[in-house]
Amino acid sequence: MPGDALSQDPALLRGRIDTTKAHPARVYDVFLGGKDNYPVDRAAAAAALAANPRGYLDVRHNRDFMRRAVTRLAGEQGIRQFLDIGTGLPTGENVHQIAQGIAPESRIVYVDNDPVVLAHARALLTSSPEGRTDYVDADLRRPEEILEQAAKTLDFGEPVALLLVAILHFVEDAEAYPLVRELMEALPAGSHLVLSHLTDEMHPEPARAVQRTYTERGFTFVFRSATEVERFFDETPGVTLDEPGVVPVHHWHPGPAPAPPAVEEAYFDSLDDIEKIRYRDINDVTDDDINVYGASGRKG
Ligand code: SAH
Repeated sequence: MPGDALSQDPALLRGRIDTTKAHPARVYDVFLGGKDNYPVDRAAAAAALAANPRGYLDVRHNRDFMRRAVTRLAGEQGIRQFLDIGTGLPTGENVHQIAQGIAPESRIVYVDNDPVVLAHARALLTSSPEGRTDYVDADLRRPEEILEQAAKTLDFGEPVALLLVAILHFVEDAEAYPLVRELMEALPAGSHLVLSHLTDEMHPEPARAVQRTYTERGFTFVFRSATEVERFFDETPGVTLDEPGVVPVHHWHPGPAPAPPAVEEAYFDSLDDIEKIRYRDINDVTDDDINVYGASGRKG
């Protein structure tokens, strides 16, 4: 049965949700124009935008990188199994809608450790009848537990695409490199690793200014350079980095992005410290805007 985690008592689940502190998944949701966030998250997003007014483009282009990567994997690469760790809050187009739109038999396991994501996870369990989706409430830093739970839905005898999209910057080096290795070691030849990562290498000032606004709110991230991102592939036996290597996400197999959902300006009405954001077309992006690297690799 899918969704063991979802059978949790709703009162217990509510007890795990802290609405007094900004949460990464909910701040990310603000930038995508979602509705599953609280005033404290919108205040965090506003502070980040005050530090870097076009910073929402990082989030939107990161999400579109994920869409393009899954489209390529399900299409050209014929991948039918996906392990998406750090899923985030459901949006209009999640991994299973993208993959099953191409191959309805695709199986997807979502993993996140945020109780807010768990509370909304039913929206991720809307699999096509031919395929399957499941949700695992677990921490990336516990790869064994993830693999054990994911094995209920995925066949580790067949290739799997491991998606670590905008999550590794929450994990320090000592754990991050070994855990990627451990996860990939469990997957057979023909599997893929897709990851994206925040960096301060391209635009140090705005990136660090944004980071400070989050650190003040109790969550932080580890920036990594392109070389440090490459290490995730180099230090994982059998995995080779695909073309074009580690590049800013909007340069990774670029293509026109679908129009983003309209963002309600009302979100920001109560906030005096930023101008109302005019969410421009996502395709109106320059190299100055992006602070996220994307890359993929294949296990031979
Ligand atoms: N992958 C999605 C969402 C990125 S937001 C996308 O790129 O569009 C990052 C997500 O990672 C959040 O939902 C957050 O809750 C989750 N996350 C952060 N640290 C985590 C950890 N240690 N274990 C599991 N999930 C984590």
